[in-house]
Amino acid sequence: MKKVAIFGSTGSVGRATIEVIRHLKSEFMISAIAAGTNYQRLVKQVIETKPKFVITSDEKTKEKLYKLLTKVNAGKITILTGEQGLSQVAIDDEIDILVMAMSGTKGIIPLIKAIEEKKRIALSTKELLVSFGSIIMQKANQYGAEIIPIDSELAGLHQCLSGRNPDEVKKLIITASGGPFFKRKNMSNISISEALKHPVWKMGKKITVDSATLANKGLEVIETSRLFSIPPEKIEVLIHPQSIIHALVEFNDNSTLAQLSLPDMRLCIQYALTFPKRVKSLVQSLDLSEQKKLEFYSPHQNRFPALKLAYQALKTDGTAPCIFNAANEVAVGYFLAGKIGFNMIPKIIDRTLKALPIINNPTLLDLLKYEERALKYAERII
Ligand code: MG
Repeated sequence: MKKVAIFGSTGSVGRATIEVIRHLKSEFMISAIAAGTNYQRLVKQVIETKPKFVITSDEKTKEKLYKLLTKVNAGKITILTGEQGLSQVAIDDEIDILVMAMSGTKGIIPLIKAIEEKKRIALSTKELLVSFGSIIMQKANQYGAEIIPIDSELAGLHQCLSGRNPDEVKKLIITASGGPFFKRKNMSNISISEALKHPVWKMGKKITVDSATLANKGLEVIETSRLFSIPPEKIEVLIHPQSIIHALVEFNDNSTLAQLSLPDMRLCIQYALTFPKRVKSLVQSLDLSEQKKLEFYSPHQNRFPALKLAYQALKTDGTAPCIFNAANEVAVGYFLAGKIGFNMIPKIIDRTLKALPIINNPTLLDLLKYEERALKYAERII
């Protein structure tokens, strides 16, 4: 029986992970769940999954949860809080696999601790690989910890690349649905509700806005480069509105492998848990004869400057990807709060990247410092 910790259990990937583990219950069980602000949902999950550990974001929530669980006699559950609680669970012998699905980068320290304990990491939070990818991969190689991506495009690449030598790769291609504005010519006056209407995936608000600006694909290009040690010039983005092909790998002999499936996160989550084994999933079979057409387009870099900026940050390397991510995070937050327009998002990223100096081969401390500086700088622009 493999024991799983889910960090970010109340978000869309966290909830889907619980569903997948319910389906795979003869081989996997949930030993720990951690969630931020969604108390009602967390309570339901605790009662259903009866984990050994629950990690809440603060002491107040911990007290509230403790009282409630005593009342319903939920059994022996240890409730911990904050980053310390996450770190304690990340290294506990009770955990074999850490599903990292917390939003943002605040899970970096617990993630590194889990890597040092050689836990398998099922990684959904792309921001972590973008901002701290150099450190994460160096630690994973040093300790021999497996990092299996949950992000659908990266999971697709992982499947196509499995067992291959990176030297044989000519090109990695990740696809993008194009988001809600793929066909839109005039990018001014975009409302929050328009940006939140994703044509394919149902996800949290931050990633949905990132999909609309294509910053999400930019983050995935950086993630791809870090995870598979492939330089930016060998990574391409292709708009594919049907979202059936998630990734393609072209090898040196010009032969291309692609990964296809219906767009459903539960498949990627299951793959990250069971790899290298494949078992029956909750996802429907793909009937290609039912797909009328599969289309592909090159992305419009001028209409989606965030993608171009992500490539530039990756080419600059050092602290640049971390600054890109932090500035984007701030800009999206302000857009969602109605304080800035949609077109300001890439402008804030660009200005922050230009303003802060770049450090090469940064340490974890450098990255944490520059993340903080970028967050503050981007806030000041607004
Ligand atoms: Mg993705």
